[in-house]
Amino acid sequence: MIAIEDNKCTGCHVCTWVCPHGVLAMNASSAFVAYEERCIECGACELNCKPGAVQVTKGTGCMVAIIKEDILGLKGKGCGCG
Ligand code: SF4
Ligand code: SF4
Repeated sequence: MIAIEDNKCTGCHVCTWVCPHGVLAMNASSAFVAYEERCIECGACELNCKPGAVQVTKGTGCMVAIIKEDILGLKGKGCGCG
């Protein structure tokens, strides 16, 4: 799940540039979640948002978590990339 705090967003566009799946878009003054269903919860937007306006909650969409927990059997470890 992804959330953007409008009051912290400076409108710098960076999150829209780093997102590999085109999840985020800009309105006149801030970013918004345009296509949440495309999000793979990679965390790139959160890591690159200097004001800390983006929060990504890891869930089943996180590919690293799926690999660690379901393929490598590391149950409960999550992705560790947030
Ligand atoms: S990177 Fe952060 S501050 Fe910049 S547009 Fe995205 S949410 Fe706003
Ligand atoms: S977590 Fe990754 S895929 Fe999801 S919106 Fe952020 S950069 Fe895009």
